[in-house]
Amino acid sequence: MKTKLKSKWVGVVAALVVIGIAWVWQQSTPPAFTVTFFNVGQGDAALVRTVAGQTILVDGGPDRTILSKLGAALPWGERTIDLVILSHPHADHVSGLNYVLERYRVRQVLVTGAVHTTPEYLRFLELLKEQGLPVALARAGQTVELAGGVRVEVLWPQESFLGKEVPDLNATSIVNRVVYGSTAVLFTGDTPEENESSLLASGAEVEAQLLKVAHQGSRTSSSPAFLRAVSPQVAVISVGQNSYGHPHAEVVERLRELVPQVLRTDEEDDITFMSDGQSFTRQRPHLPFLQFVLP
Ligand SMILES: [Zn+2]
Repeated sequence: MKTKLKSKWVGVVAALVVIGIAWVWQQSTPPAFTVTFFNVGQGDAALVRTVAGQTILVDGGPDRTILSKLGAALPWGERTIDLVILSHPHADHVSGLNYVLERYRVRQVLVTGAVHTTPEYLRFLELLKEQGLPVALARAGQTVELAGGVRVEVLWPQESFLGKEVPDLNATSIVNRVVYGSTAVLFTGDTPEENESSLLASGAEVEAQLLKVAHQGSRTSSSPAFLRAVSPQVAVISVGQNSYGHPHAEVVERLRELVPQVLRTDEEDDITFMSDGQSFTRQRPHLPFLQFVLP
């Protein structure tokens, strides 16, 4: 009986030591420039973390899944997001942001201002107002400079949508390029093919090693000309179970033809790439047991 009790305590102490080592290991990992495309089901949510520890959250996915994703991706106790970008107000992009706004300190928000009256988006606007957050309207040509040489370039929209009702909200999607050294990641929201053509015609710099494929791989986006201009090394499709047939087979086929690596969040779970300013390398998640013990 006594030995049994003793071995139980040895087990508890050993577990605490493992958790302690894992925690110290995580905290002591030097910050790097990382981009994580979260598996949030059918929708988009991606986190950029800079060498200076600043964070950019692009969309929040369809529900509260983003909270556990952020908890695992950020250092323990980190409750600040420096910049939140809402590509457009559809529920699969905005809903998760409401949970984030309720629990995190957000320093700045970038939106388009287009009118949408769903409860999720109205709640988002209410939270911005309640918290008195600095809100900027996205316009092509804008840049946001972050510490550590990171720059956010807004490529779309080319006009102001403030207070405007539009037939297709996807067409208002913020397209932005986050640049670190000679590496870049392009976020496209749900931007349709017509916008891709206009972007190319405008001569905007779209080239990026990492591409967040527009609109869950829908056939309404990702034209061959646009993919060639971006010429990514990796294309990430953020997608979950859905009734739209996303990603559409012809888009997946096109991506496989034109992009060396095509990844899907529904197959890979969260996808993280790290940049040293020269190139991106895939960062594998913690060992499963570390993922379990780390918040
Ligand atoms: Zn949309």
